[in-house]
Amino acid sequence: MAEKGFAEHFVDDGKNFTLEKPAVLVVDMLNDFCKEGGCMVLQEGLEAVAPIANLIDQARTHGVPVIYINDCHRPGKYDKEFDKRTPHCIDGTWGAQVIDELAPQESDYCIKKRRFSGFFQTDLDLVLRELGVQTVVVTGVVTNICVRSTCHDAFFLGYKVVVPRDCVRATGPREQDSTLWDIETQYGSVTTSDMVIQKF
Ligand code: ZN
Repeated sequence: MAEKGFAEHFVDDGKNFTLEKPAVLVVDMLNDFCKEGGCMVLQEGLEAVAPIANLIDQARTHGVPVIYINDCHRPGKYDKEFDKRTPHCIDGTWGAQVIDELAPQESDYCIKKRRFSGFFQTDLDLVLRELGVQTVVVTGVVTNICVRSTCHDAFFLGYKVVVPRDCVRATGPREQDSTLWDIETQYGSVTTSDMVIQKF
């Protein structure tokens, strides 16, 4: 068999992946990113709300941990992210809260982050190891920034990565396609939330 080249697109249509010891990560579904009046709104983010709500509902029913990864920056303090972006998701403000439609429940975990990756300088990896998680199903916004960074680190740390494409939104169609192309080729599986739910 010929060696696969760098340019090859590895497609996993979701039929072949398995979900060993899964957890669902909900990345940055926060008012500042999703709701009118937020300071960095991605309108398309709201399109992902219904499929994420259904997915985490099914996860809870099946005893699959639901873990929110929430951007959270200190009020009045410098943050490296503000070199490139307007200050956002300030701790204690409405903008830093999870949108009402996806409000965390008692059994869920909430982890604050102040970089794009949910793993960077947080205890996400520790929580996942304590729970015995092997597969992370990554949802939320935005595909090409925080979702992507979280997928990269999950892969680097040895987790299996699954991204349901209906549960993530990017800054544009080019970024969505490009990022999901890279994830399914280099880091994990890209599929649909229906396919994930079937395997819970
Ligand atoms: Zn941020």
